Amino acid sequence: MGAESSRSPGAAVEALIARLRNGPLPVEDWMAACLGEYYARGDVLGAGGDFITAPECTQIFGELLGLWSAVVWRSMGSPERINLVELGPGRGTLMADALRALAPVPEFRRALSVHLVETSPGLRARQKQKLRAGGVTVFWHERLDTVPPGPMIVLANEFLDALPIRQYLCHAEGWRERLVALAGEGTALTFTQGPLLGGPPPLAQPAHLRARVGEEIEVCPQAQAVVAQVAARLAAEGGAGLFLDYGPAHSAPGDSLQALRRHRFAAVLENPGAVDLTAHVDFQAMAQVAAAAGAAVDGIVQQGPFLQSLGLEARAGVLLANAAVDQKREIRFAVRRLIDSSEMGTLFKVLGLRSPSMARLPGF
Ligand code: SAH
Repeated sequence: MGAESSRSPGAAVEALIARLRNGPLPVEDWMAACLGEYYARGDVLGAGGDFITAPECTQIFGELLGLWSAVVWRSMGSPERINLVELGPGRGTLMADALRALAPVPEFRRALSVHLVETSPGLRARQKQKLRAGGVTVFWHERLDTVPPGPMIVLANEFLDALPIRQYLCHAEGWRERLVALAGEGTALTFTQGPLLGGPPPLAQPAHLRARVGEEIEVCPQAQAVVAQVAARLAAEGGAGLFLDYGPAHSAPGDSLQALRRHRFAAVLENPGAVDLTAHVDFQAMAQVAAAAGAAVDGIVQQGPFLQSLGLEARAGVLLANAAVDQKREIRFAVRRLIDSSEMGTLFKVLGLRSPSMARLPGF
C-alpha cells in the first residue's frame, strides 16, 4: 500500500487545485482528476489495497463469465473472429480466470482477440504480468474507440461506478449544480453550489425530475456515453455485453458519492487522489441509453441470482471437494459474499446488452 495521509498530490490533483484558484468546478471535474491520479498507481485493489471486487474474491467469478462468453459466442453461430473486450480490467484477474476456464473450449479461444480498455499505467502493468502466461494475445486501449470493428463480447465489472458523476440539488426555484471549491487560501476543498439552471439538469431521468426540494440527483455522463457506444456497436456489428456493478435498478434521487480507503469509508474531499471515489450506477439510465442506441436490453437482474443461474454453486462444489480445510472456509466465505443479500448479492446488479438479432442472454 502506497497511500499515506502525508502523500503529496500528483500532477493531476495539482492541476485541479490550480484550476480551482479561478473558481469552483463541477463534481465531475474534481472526481475525474482525483480518480485519474488514484487509479494510475495500480496498487489500489485487493486485500492489500482500498477495496475488493468480485474477481478478487474468488476465481469462480471470472470462470463463470468466461464460460458465459463461450455460450454467447456459440449462440451467435460461432463466428470465426470475435473481440473479447473488458472495460476497466483492474488487476486482470477476471480475464485470467475466464481464459483459464475456456481451456475446454479451444475453438472459442482460437476465435477470440482479447482487448482491454484501461487508462491506468499501473494497472496495465499488472494486467500484462497476469495475462502473460494465458496463451492469448492481448491488446490494450485507452478507449473503446480503437477496439477494431467486428462482433464483440464486452465484460465490465465495477467499471461504471469508477466514472465521475455530476450532482444537482433541487431547490424550490429550480436546480443548482453541486461544485467543488477551495475552502480558503490553502488546498483544502469544500462543496458549494452553482447558479440556478435555466431548466432541468442535463441527462436527468424522469424519476429525477420528480425530486422534492432538498433532494439531490446524480448523473454520470461518461457512463452514459460508454454504454451508448457499446450498445451502438452491438446493434451494428453483433455481440453482447455484461455490466456488473452496484446501484439501484430504478433511477431515484440520492447522494451516493463515497470514498473508500483500506476497506473503510473515508471523507470524500480529503486526501484527493489517494482515496477511491465511487458512486452508485443508475442502471435504469444505463438500460435506457442502451436501448436508445439500438441494443436489446436483458435484465436488470441481481448479481446473486445471476451467478447462481450460471452455476456458481456447482463450481464451488467442485473446488470445495478438492480443497484443504482453510481453503474450504475461504471458498464458502467468498461465495457467500457474492450472493448474500447482506453483501453483494442484491445491491449488485447485472445489465445484459445484445444485438437485437440474438436470443435472450444466459442468466437473464
Ligand atoms: N474490473 C476490475 C477493476 C475495477 S476498478 C475488478 O472487478 O476487479 C475500475 C477499473 O477501471 C480500474 O482498472 C481502473 O483503472 C479502470 N478505469 C477507471 N476509469 C477508466 C476509464 N475512464 N477508462 C478505462 N478504464 C478506467
